[in-house]
Amino acid sequence: MAKLTIVPTPIGNLEDITLRALSTLKRVRLILAEDTRTTSILLAHFGIKCSLQSHHMHNEHKTLEVICRRIEECEDVALVSDAGTPAISDPGFLLVRECIRRGIEVECLPGPTAFVPALVASGLPCDRFVFEGFLPQKKGRQTKLRELAEEERTTILYESPFRVVKTLTQLAEYKGEDCPAAACRELSKLHEEIVRGTLKELIEHFQQTPPKGEFVLIIGKSTTFDTAK
Ligand code: SAM
Repeated sequence: MAKLTIVPTPIGNLEDITLRALSTLKRVRLILAEDTRTTSILLAHFGIKCSLQSHHMHNEHKTLEVICRRIEECEDVALVSDAGTPAISDPGFLLVRECIRRGIEVECLPGPTAFVPALVASGLPCDRFVFEGFLPQKKGRQTKLRELAEEERTTILYESPFRVVKTLTQLAEYKGEDCPAAACRELSKLHEEIVRGTLKELIEHFQQTPPKGEFVLIIGKSTTFDTAK
């Protein structure tokens, strides 16, 4: 019986790809890719030739049926995203759910994702944490920030460099400017950097050094919990 394999790909350093990821990408009949151009470059780097089909947030609803039918007709299929683990702030969940609903085997290989190294390297408690992905940009943002003000577990956010200062500033408003945090930038890449400190210190840092590259923000428990809005 064929199956769907979720294959994490590097978030920067290509050496982070696993041997199982490579052997899976060589073995399957079809690779579903968020952006076929990005995945073609990765496959060419590792000398892998395989049919690619695009699978992204704008077509995933429409292609589920055809993909599931191909797996049911005994074709092994892999799903990759542009970087990291599919379905983590990336397309993938709908396909996984549909495969499970139809009784198709789904496996997810362990591998690169941005939030785990960020969380661990932040130095903030990682025994209990909450992954929030990207904060809503408009509707629901204040509600989410209010919720996070009371969150006692370490919180993980993905953020664009253009909104890092705005998000840190709003977090400081809700959680207090002394709240411990870390901004993890360009993980596994040449300019990897982890800035640790209070929210106030991080804001000052990025006001002086404009944020560049990809960011994971790790936010600790508020030290001014009782006075947070
Ligand atoms: N599926 C990916 C994963 O498993 O982490 C996440 C995809 S999401 C569309 C992209 C976001 O992940 C970026 O905006 C950034 O917040 C974070 N990210 C991805 N690569 C990163 C890196 N090398 N360093 C820091 N953050 C990264």
